[in-house]
Amino acid sequence: MSFTLHGLGVSAGIAIGRAMLMSHATLEVSHLTLAPRLVEKEIARFDAAIAAVKSELLTMKENTEHAPAELSAFIDIHTMFLEDTELVEKPREIIRERRCNAEWALVQQMEHLVGQFEQFDDPYLRERKYDVIQVVERVIKELLGHPGKASLKAAKHTKEESLIVVAHDLSPADTIAFKDHRFASFITDVGGATSHTAILARSMAIPAVLGLENGRALIRDGEQLIVDGMRGVVIVNPDPRVLEEYRLRMEQIELEKNQLKRLKTSRTVSLDGIDIALHANIELPGDVPDALEGGAEGIGLFRTEFLFLNRGDMPDEQEQFEAYKKVVKGMAGRPVTIRTFDLGADKDLHPEGTAGDRVKTNPALGRRAIRLSLSEPKMFQTQLRAILRASRYGPIKLLIPMLAHAHEIDQTLAAVEQAKSSLRGEKIPFDENTQVGGMIEIPAAALAVGIFLRRLDFLSIGTNDLIQYTLAIDRADEQVASLYDPLHPAVLMLLAHTISNAEKAGIPVSVCGETAGDPKLTRLLLGMGLRIFSMHPSQILKVKNRILKSDVSEIAPNVRKMLRLDEPAKLREALEKLNAS
Ligand code: PEP
Ligand code: MG
Repeated sequence: MSFTLHGLGVSAGIAIGRAMLMSHATLEVSHLTLAPRLVEKEIARFDAAIAAVKSELLTMKENTEHAPAELSAFIDIHTMFLEDTELVEKPREIIRERRCNAEWALVQQMEHLVGQFEQFDDPYLRERKYDVIQVVERVIKELLGHPGKASLKAAKHTKEESLIVVAHDLSPADTIAFKDHRFASFITDVGGATSHTAILARSMAIPAVLGLENGRALIRDGEQLIVDGMRGVVIVNPDPRVLEEYRLRMEQIELEKNQLKRLKTSRTVSLDGIDIALHANIELPGDVPDALEGGAEGIGLFRTEFLFLNRGDMPDEQEQFEAYKKVVKGMAGRPVTIRTFDLGADKDLHPEGTAGDRVKTNPALGRRAIRLSLSEPKMFQTQLRAILRASRYGPIKLLIPMLAHAHEIDQTLAAVEQAKSSLRGEKIPFDENTQVGGMIEIPAAALAVGIFLRRLDFLSIGTNDLIQYTLAIDRADEQVASLYDPLHPAVLMLLAHTISNAEKAGIPVSVCGETAGDPKLTRLLLGMGLRIFSMHPSQILKVKNRILKSDVSEIAPNVRKMLRLDEPAKLREALEKLNAS
């Protein structure tokens, strides 16, 4: 039966493929059939994984004597589950009866238990299903031998390119693991349009729809799906006529993409001769070829925290240095803006809950980004030294996320100085003139931008967070996604205020949030005076196309008028007019 689901289209394009359901656990496991002689061995492997996780929990408990009672209780519950026959005995029976691999058996049993917990009326008992999921995830990671790394295996006999990942939720850590794969698309039940999961979909240039609410429950493994990332629609088991229509649209999109490629080497200049710089946002060193392919003149934002996800430990100075050097060398003399880590909030350093302080009431307002870096001076120094060391291989700029206070900037600059002085002491070469800039992503920073202009070499506006904090909308929450509005008059005021003050002060300013990569907003930003844009490589040529067709001297007065409007409907109408022609 064909049916349609609606969600948030967060990454445009169309994909047609087969559904690959991700289990409740954030790990996808493959289903293997074992030769009879291997069954007992598989059970022994399962037993060993259970024992290893139990001892891991025991060590954790011993090391957390002074941790909050909740953490200790959480360890106790997980240990209890690992002693329960439902989780220890039943998977052994499944392995024996169905001759399957341990991971698969465990996930089957987990799904069964989760179903039972969901039946409870008591909300406390219902919530315990998450403990089951977490403990199973731990055992699976142990079985897979990659602690902290999501493992995705393509369904047998189907090429990854035609698989559509269907999940209830994907963390940024799960999604970044997709970069090693070539899935056609992914769809989830939860997640907002500028969540990092959505951003990663755009950076991979694959269509994605989030916030489907019940997709994971309604879609079955292997069903044919059409994902329309533009309209936010997923069609399950489409009929042949619809399928044909979408195939034609896919071809059309491909054609348009190829036409845009012709712009790759042309200069980015407006009709009235204003040069604009288009830079790329990247998450991993492996993204550099895409940035160059997209025609980026530099890296405007390297989200280094992605180097930290999906692993049990922190990369040391040498490993980070190699990663930064790879990007700088890959960009061959073009500027590379490296943002110090923006960990915390949805990019949790300790997703397993081992940090003792994982459960926060409001993580996006908590110890995130520079706040975390300043509170972990050793970790921060390691990163600063690694970045500075890479600066001898090409132009690097240091970008600091989530600044709000003058004293945070001062402390950061002191930390940079400390890293420099330690390198000098060790006679390790680096670029003494490495510029330091700040992200404007908290409304306070935009309003009091003078604090930043007096202390820093450049600014970069992170509209994703700026909008989140201005409108008090959790960017990762699909339930408030409709309120997330880059055109809200307050957002426009903050943007225009920051850009014009930076211009007056002669300090370069860019926008590196998703707004910069939306061709519908290109003229608006040009009219505000923006001259440096940073976005996913896949968006660069689309934005360039808009710039080549724009006359800034004509646009600017209209944008100034728009900024005086505070009626949303009028603003939208004015934007349409601005974009006409
Ligand atoms: C932003 O907030 O706009 C930004 C570019 O940073 P991130 O999306 O990584 O928070
Ligand atoms: Mg941000």
